[in-house]
Formats: sequence, structure tokens, C-alpha cells
Amino acid sequence: MVGRAPWVSGLITGLAYFVFAAAAILATRLSGGLALMWIANAVLLTAFLLTPHRLWIIPAVGTFIASLAASITVSPVPEAAFFFASANVAEAWIVAEILRHSNIRRDPFDSARAVFIFIVSAGIIGPAISGFIGAATASAAFGRSFVGSWLDWFAGHGLGTIMATPLILLPFLGDSLLRKQTTAAKVRAAGLLLLVTVTALGVFSQNDYPLLFLPLLPVLMATFVLGRSGAAASVAIVAVIAGVQTALNSGPLSLMHTEDAVRFQFLQFYIAFQFAIALPVAAILRQRDTLTEHIQDHAAALQLLLDNTSDVLLNLDIEGRIRLASESVREVAGYEPEELIGKNALSLVDGPWVERVRAVHLEALEEPNKTFTVEYRARRANGELAWFETRTRVIRRADGTTAGVVSAIREVGHRKSIEERLMEAAQTDALTSVLNRRGFLQKLNIALTDKVGPVKPTTIAMVDIDFFKRINDQYGHAAGDLALSRVASILKAEVRVGDIVGRIGGEEFAIALVEADLNDAATVCERLRAEIEQNHIPIAPGKSIQLTASFGLAALVPGPAGAIEAALENADSALYAAKHNGRNCLQIAA
Ligand code: GH3
Ligand code: MG
Ligand code: MG
Repeated sequence: MVGRAPWVSGLITGLAYFVFAAAAILATRLSGGLALMWIANAVLLTAFLLTPHRLWIIPAVGTFIASLAASITVSPVPEAAFFFASANVAEAWIVAEILRHSNIRRDPFDSARAVFIFIVSAGIIGPAISGFIGAATASAAFGRSFVGSWLDWFAGHGLGTIMATPLILLPFLGDSLLRKQTTAAKVRAAGLLLLVTVTALGVFSQNDYPLLFLPLLPVLMATFVLGRSGAAASVAIVAVIAGVQTALNSGPLSLMHTEDAVRFQFLQFYIAFQFAIALPVAAILRQRDTLTEHIQDHAAALQLLLDNTSDVLLNLDIEGRIRLASESVREVAGYEPEELIGKNALSLVDGPWVERVRAVHLEALEEPNKTFTVEYRARRANGELAWFETRTRVIRRADGTTAGVVSAIREVGHRKSIEERLMEAAQTDALTSVLNRRGFLQKLNIALTDKVGPVKPTTIAMVDIDFFKRINDQYGHAAGDLALSRVASILKAEVRVGDIVGRIGGEEFAIALVEADLNDAATVCERLRAEIEQNHIPIAPGKSIQLTASFGLAALVPGPAGAIEAALENADSALYAAKHNGRNCLQIAA
């Protein structure tokens, strides 16, 4: 029915339908009424399930003709053929539409929900509706009561479709007992079906005890071991044996003191009930299997990643206790994975970073669909501290509760040192190796805010080389650069370790003399001035130059915003005054 030209499928469907329909009519011909078991519609329903919706008309027409043909050739009432055929096609079409609108496309046996909808639509709704046409036709044709005919139709069609559809459809879905691969699996399947057969034969060959419950046990065993094709096959075996034996007036149903028709309807109810138990169980087991396969696939992919990464994977509970640590933790941090289990991950984090890491853990627990990243220092097994980066994400259970987090941890010491070097480079002047303007301001800011205890005064000195343009003009730019470096080294060498020296303009330097008042600073700067003046700068073999610089000093009063800028401005004004006063001197801001 699949993979062929649609009309071929339609033809095959029609032929199969004819065989099942003619057999059912022949079997009931003598009793003069409706077939007690109508499995032909399972053929049409299977065709609908396997055919795209727009092509449904093909199997529908095929089976309509087949139903007509079966009625005309073998039925005692050929004049009713048209109505029976219409009712049959309408029934299967209704069931297929219900399934289609419930988003069940090919496989109505792959979930408990789908099985439920299948049983309700194929076992109840479809035959209940088509039963009105069928019963009206039958009561006219056979002269039996409408209600009795409707019940016969309803039970015979409902049960027939429920029972036969899995048997016909599952092989098309690649799910067949005959496809069991290994010999052991084949033997197991045969053994279980034999057990079902023997049990059913035993139960239905006697009429001393009402042992109707007994076959359910092997049916469920077959379901658990063989899956849904096992469920379908074993219930079918029970149905056939129970049907034949009951017809022969043997088995527990012969204990019923009632007419044959009622007994058969009870038998149908019994078989439908077995289906209603076995098929959902099979569907749920199948879902579990699919889920397990998914998990196995994921686990394999994860193992591959773990084997090829130096990242550490930790699984933490809500409190942060380690439930699982990947093997890589040994290489990355020196811990044995087992020794970490039960420990709180925070206990490995270095003190100053604990709060930040804890905050990110709590944040991750709050927001299920986000990955959070945190950088921190933590202790290796040998006690040394190292930089790590953790990306963390919550683990959600199916019921919506939070089970904990999973964290991927990476050593970032290398990256951290690159970052630090880059940061330093961004703050350093390439020519003179003292701080650049940005670096000077940042360091000064940190120096001022880091202060604890009573604040001591800080003095800012601005230094500008005198007549520097001339040096460039007379000796060239390279000589100018050399002079700049030399002045920078003198400044750097002569101040205290905590003082900050920066090149903040072309040939302008700034010095922050920390914990020095204007008097102390003036002493230092005077020394610097003299040092620069006396220094000989070799610019060519046997040739050196001398230069001078002017200084402007201002007190930095820390506290108010803009204090640094104000001090720099004041120092600049003082420097301007120094230039004005003849250069090569110090000037202190008013
Ligand atoms: P004064 O400060 O004494 O008033 O005179 P000056 O000649 O030094 O004047 P000013 O400070 O305005 O001159 C700055 C000169 O410094 C201009 C520029 O040619 C030179 N200069 C600035 N940056 C560099 C540099 O990176 N390398 C060299 N070689 N020269 C620079
Ligand atoms: Mg100058
Ligand atoms: Mg200048």
C-alpha cells in the first residue's frame, strides 16, 4: 500500500477488502444476519493511514467496489450491497479523519494517547455512526429489529477493526514478529505465542471454571517481551481460539445461559478488553524504549565530547553539592572524581570569589533556559590557586521541578594571563614604557580609592620638556624619541615605588607623588629637574645633548568627584607659569 503507484495500492486494497468481506459474509450467510466479526474495514483504515490525505479517494473507491462485489456475489441480499458498501467506506473514513485531526498520521499505536483515540474512534464512534445505515439496511433486508441489527453492526465492526488493524498495519510500519533478527529472539517469540495458544486452548477447552482472566497473563508477557506486534498477535490468537471454541459450545462462555448472539457479543467485549489493556501497555513500553534509545544516543555523544575535551563536567544538587564529576577533573585540578562526590563545590572556590559563584548558582536555578558564566579562582588538589570559568545550567525534571545544575568548568589561567598582559599593554606607553594617559588615570584612581586609614596628601606634578621642538628640528625625530625615553627613565627611577609616572602628552609627563605634601613634592621635583638638566643624552657616537624641563605642582585633595582633573588642571597652570618664569624651574599652584 506504500511505495507503489496510488492506483496499484487502491487495487490491492480493494482485493484484500473483497477477500475479508466475502469471508465474513460467507461465514454468517447461514445465520441470516450481519457478520459478527467484520475485519475488512481494518484494510481500508490501514490504507487511509498509509496514504496521503489527498489520495484517500483511491482506496475509498477501491473498497467501495470491493464491498459491492462481495455483497453481490456472496450475500443472500445483493440488493442491499450499495448501502452496506456506503456504510463501510463512511465508517473507515470517519475513523481516519478523527485520527488525522488528532495528529495521528501513520501510527495509532505509538503512544497511550494514540491508542486511546484509536480505540474510541475505531471501536465506538465510527461503527456507532455507520451502524445507522447498516442497521437500517439490515432490518429492511433480513427483517430483524433495528436495535438488534445496530448492536450487531456496532460490536462486529468495532471489534473487527480494533483487532485487525494492528495485525495488518504494524508490518507496514516495519514492526513484525517475523522480522525478529536473532534466532534467540525468534525462539522467544515463538515460545511466548505458543504459551498464549496453550493457555487459550486450555481455558476454552473446558467449561468447568470461568477462567477468562487466565489468558491475560501470557498476553501481557508477550506484550512486555515482544512489544506491540506481540500484543496484537497474542490477542488475535486468543480471539480465534475463543471464537472457534465458543462456536463449538465449549469454554467458559458456554456457562452463560443465554442465546448465541449475546454470548458472541460478550466474547467480543472480552477480546476488545484484552486489546484495551495490551495495546496501551505496548505503546508505553515502546515510548520508553524510544526514550532509552535517545538517552543512549545522547550519552554516547556526551562521552565522545568528554573524551575529547579538557572541560570538567560537574553535576550539582540544588545546594551545590557535587553528585557527579567527569574524569577530566583529575587532569585539570588534580582531584579524583570520587573524592569530590558529596563535597560542596563552593568549598573549592577561593574566598573572595565564593559569593560571586554562589550568586551565579542561585541565578541559574531561577532561570531554567539560560546558561550562566562565572570566572573565579579555585584551589587545585595540591593547594595552588588557579583561574577557572564555569558555565552552568539548570537540570529540569519532567514534572517541572529543579533537580540541580550541570556545570562545565574550564581552566582559564592561560587566557587570564593574556588578558592581564593585554590590559597592561593598553595602559602602557610604547615609547617610554611608563603609563600612558589612560593608565596613569586608572592607577591614580585605584591608588586613591584603595587607601585605608587617614588620607595623606598627594601631589600632582606636570613636567614638560623645554624647547623640545628644537631638539626634533636640530637632531631629528629619533633623537627626540631617545630624549623622551631618557627623561621618562629618570622620572621613573627617582620617584618612590608607590608614585605613579605617566606620559600624558607628546613630551609631557605627569607624576602622582603619593603621600607627599607640596613641600615634600617640591624637594623631589627639584631633584628631578637637576637630574634632567645634568643628564647627557648620547644621540650619535661621540655626540650627546642636554635638555631641561619645567615643573608645575598642585595638591590633590581627594574625595570630591573631579578631584583628579582639578589637580591636573592646577598643575598645568603652574607649569605654564614655570614656562613663563624662564623654564627649567618649579612652580607651585596658588
Ligand atoms: P616649550 O614646551 O618649552 O614651550 O617648548 P616646546 O618646543 O617643548 O613646545 P611644545 O611643548 O609645544 O612642543 C611639543 C613638541 O614635542 C611638538 C612635537 O614636535 C614634539 N613631540 C611631541 N610628541 C613627540 C614624540 O613622540 N616624539 C618626538 N620626537 N617629538 C614629539
Ligand atoms: Mg615643551
Ligand atoms: Mg608640550
